[in-house]
Amino acid sequence: MVTRFAPSPTGRLHLGHAFAAKVAFNFAKAQNFSCLLRIEDIDHTRCTNEYTLEIYRDLDWLGFDWPLPVKIQSKHYYDYAKIIKNLCNLGLAYECPLTRGNIRDGLLPKNKGTNINGYLDHFKEGNSKPIIPNSIRLDLKKSMQYLKDQELTFIETSSGEEKKINSKIALMDAVEKKKLDPIIARKDIGVSYHIAVTHDDCYQDITHVVRGHDLYESTHIHVLIQKISNWPTPKYHHHPVLNNKYGDKLSKRGLDTSIRSLRNNGLTAHQVLDMATL
Ligand code: GLU
Repeated sequence: MVTRFAPSPTGRLHLGHAFAAKVAFNFAKAQNFSCLLRIEDIDHTRCTNEYTLEIYRDLDWLGFDWPLPVKIQSKHYYDYAKIIKNLCNLGLAYECPLTRGNIRDGLLPKNKGTNINGYLDHFKEGNSKPIIPNSIRLDLKKSMQYLKDQELTFIETSSGEEKKINSKIALMDAVEKKKLDPIIARKDIGVSYHIAVTHDDCYQDITHVVRGHDLYESTHIHVLIQKISNWPTPKYHHHPVLNNKYGDKLSKRGLDTSIRSLRNNGLTAHQVLDMATL
């Protein structure tokens, strides 16, 4: 059984990350699972190698360890792009040229099909910073029609019991309320979180996803992508997100609450982990 801790190197780790890491690594330890480390760095407009190196250093200092090699998402742009192309070919995804401004002005994205010839060329080997002409959205309504009456559910274990959650209800509600279809390829990075995370959870054989409750609503979209792609749905444990009581107190005093800064200020790993508590 395998879980993962999947930080994004868009900044320094702080107490909230220490808490999330503690939940994921302890979840694995308590059940004799392994816990992978996955660097979620597809957003090349914000992620840096320096922050990735700091993640290794902070987690190591906090006392966590993980099997090597570390999983690096930016090595898989091309794999993600192939999934997106397949969804387009199935007619389940469409190019959306609307800008945020257009959408604010009330224009709604429409599935007018796609012209994604040449889409994969943006990911050709060596391109570590893909961009594409238009973002691409997943057509929720068509995707559900495509799956006919297949179940769309996942098991949530955060209450201590296995609870079956029906994603179809949530997704149908989104369609009825005419919510915007989710973006599966951002124009500025060529791919998106939803695709990268579901692809990796499948190909890295993740059986239990442990992550913050802020991602709970995304899970419905993930279940849909898994079903269309014939990937297994792992079990999910969405933990509360640490309300940053120490962080807020410290930052009010103008202090940096990153793990690095706490370490440099002489705190021990044990003290930092104690502070990283709900
Ligand atoms: N990379 C995401 C984050 O840092 C976590 C994604 C996940 O666990 O599914 O919030």
